[in-house]
Amino acid sequence: MQVPETFDYERASTVEDAIQRLTAHGDEARVIAGGHSLLPMMKLRLAVPEVLIDINDLPGLDHVRLDGDELAIGALVRHAAILDDPILGEHYPIFADAERKIADPLVRNRGTIGGSLCQADPAEDLSAVVTALKGSCVIQSANGRRTVPMREFHTGPWETAVGDAELLVEVRIPVRTSVGSSYHKVERRVGDWAVAAAGAFVQLDGDTIAAVGLGLSAVGAPDMTCPDAEQALVGGPASAEAFAEAARIVHDAVSPTADQRGPVDYKRHLAGELTRRALTDAARRARSGSDPVDSEEGNA
Ligand SMILES: Cc1cc2nc3c(=O)[nH]c(=O)nc-3n(C[C@H](O)[C@H](O)[C@H](O)COP(=O)(O)OP(=O)(O)OC[C@H]3O[C@@H](n4cnc5c(N)ncnc54)[C@H](O)[C@@H]3O)c2cc1C
Repeated sequence: MQVPETFDYERASTVEDAIQRLTAHGDEARVIAGGHSLLPMMKLRLAVPEVLIDINDLPGLDHVRLDGDELAIGALVRHAAILDDPILGEHYPIFADAERKIADPLVRNRGTIGGSLCQADPAEDLSAVVTALKGSCVIQSANGRRTVPMREFHTGPWETAVGDAELLVEVRIPVRTSVGSSYHKVERRVGDWAVAAAGAFVQLDGDTIAAVGLGLSAVGAPDMTCPDAEQALVGGPASAEAFAEAARIVHDAVSPTADQRGPVDYKRHLAGELTRRALTDAARRARSGSDPVDSEEGNA
């Protein structure tokens, strides 16, 4: 039986209280949100914190709202709430696309967006979504708040810009008009982590691509994206040819590793093909303003 090393448990009541506790305990402490990444790591003794600081009671971190020209998502918003949220559904159906394929209802009922981004797993789905949307992360410390672009938030596998005495408190996504978004993932079985996944938003000006964002998961893409493919698309037509060329660029740019989920060539193929599908569906949604996509993957 896998059991964690012994640890102390504290329950914080406010963001400020959590930061004070983190400051007091230094790098011996870890915050716990949904626990669906941290607890498995503790059971395997890959994480051995001396103190767990539970942040589930913190007020003001479970919102999804329009805030000026951005969407604000509190760090404690759970996967299940993201899946069903009407504001996210209206602006960015990429969230629901991804959530339908993250784990299972048990995990989705507890796991949070903050924990997902802070886990910094290279195969994580919401990190790829927020990367595609060119979002940013609001980090709070005793000195106030700072904002870090998602593309700089992960400083390495399982490492983030959040310091020992800091909390991720909010994720912010720019609101765009004439925009569509989509997420495509291949998994070996329902609820599994990605073999490969790709997400995209496409903003149209007529049939020209005004802006685009790509997020890639589990394929060894630096910063979970591919700026060369994005640059090749902007200012050009939202055409099948353009999306195929972007897919080719992604295919050549990624560096997947072989593991039990598949060999390098297969993952590289998926990275390109899922990028093509995500771009195609995002453009279709941008044109129609609706949600006609079947998220089941086949014959990738
Ligand atoms: C069976 C199973 C299948 C899964 N499948 C998938 C999948 O297909 N795709 C996928 O993307 N994920 C998957 N997950 C992971 C799941 O989405 C987790 O919920 C998520 O990765 C972590 O969120 P959490 O709230 O549980 O974080 P926790 O486990 O509580 O924390 C994770 C890490 O983030 C830190 N942390 C948490 N919140 C904050 C914060 N606000 N500020 C600073 N640090 C913080 C913690 O200290 C810890 O280091 C799966 C998990 C399980 C158990």
